[in-house]
Amino acid sequence: MKLRWLLPSLLSTFLISATAEAAKLEYWRFNAEQSRLDLITNEGVQPKALLLVNPARLVIDLPGTTFGGPTVYKAIGQWVREVRAAQVTPQTTRLVIELGPEYTLRPQEVRVRGIAPNRWFVQLPKLQPLALGPQRSVVVPVPLPKRPPSQNPGGPRPRPNVRVVVVVDPGHGGQDPGAIGIGGLREKDVILPIALEVARLLERQGVNAVLTRANDRFVDLAPRVAQAEAARANIFVSIHANSISLSRPDVNGLETYYAPGSSSGARLAQTIHNSLLRTVKVRDRGVRQARFFVLRKTSMPATLVEVGFVTGREDATNLRSVIYRGQVAQAIAEGILRYVQLK
Ligand SMILES: [Zn+2]
Repeated sequence: MKLRWLLPSLLSTFLISATAEAAKLEYWRFNAEQSRLDLITNEGVQPKALLLVNPARLVIDLPGTTFGGPTVYKAIGQWVREVRAAQVTPQTTRLVIELGPEYTLRPQEVRVRGIAPNRWFVQLPKLQPLALGPQRSVVVPVPLPKRPPSQNPGGPRPRPNVRVVVVVDPGHGGQDPGAIGIGGLREKDVILPIALEVARLLERQGVNAVLTRANDRFVDLAPRVAQAEAARANIFVSIHANSISLSRPDVNGLETYYAPGSSSGARLAQTIHNSLLRTVKVRDRGVRQARFFVLRKTSMPATLVEVGFVTGREDATNLRSVIYRGQVAQAIAEGILRYVQLK
């Protein structure tokens, strides 16, 4: 498989605001199995990548980003010796992926991509050991993706690859917790991990997944739609959890919505709904029409999944479970992929 340096063309749509306040690295993880580093900051950030040799290592700098914790070392073993994060200047957080001595990496094999302005991943190829000759210590700048000009919307747009773009929209967030259910179970806390997982699964299948929010922050409805339009999304999937009075714990089940009159929305909703019913144990409350803002205002096939009732006895118990939420995410991702294939 030949990996190319891909232009994250979607980034043209994310204006990273030059705030005086520094962003914070909130999360990072290296998945050795997938050769992939994921990172989340609380604000938008523009990573810079550098490839160094002797030892071969990939350096990812996050300018304007602070890192709360101390330097962290993680031994990975095999071909990645360790991955570490550190605050290298008061304004720069650095992540380093250091390879084992018998491995090497070329800049064109490294992909740095943004799923959202504050959510990035770095994809390395599956590395094979190489017989290396003696090496000089050299620094190879990884060519950073240039942002396509955003000022001339009429002009040609760089399209390095034709990937399906799916907007995954976790509802609510920040000061808006959404519905509050049994034991204080909050909608926003249930749906964010599901949405993150849906996006991850889609990316793994080659889909360009764009999250309207990747952490617990408030995003209004109009910017969610604007993000989808700017990304020229092919599909919009909003993820919510339902509620009714706390005195009705007997009301449980899955509802999937589309905008009245949208036949593609109806097909998308039905496909995801069916996938969920096949995969998880949840009552079927049907595919329904509703004039929700994000369904009405988006121009692409759109659906809103109410994964269950936080006020429902069965659903609330299930939605608290990490395993159950993983199954829900899997089912939504499969439904999306099925819809893409059917089209
Ligand atoms: Zn909601």
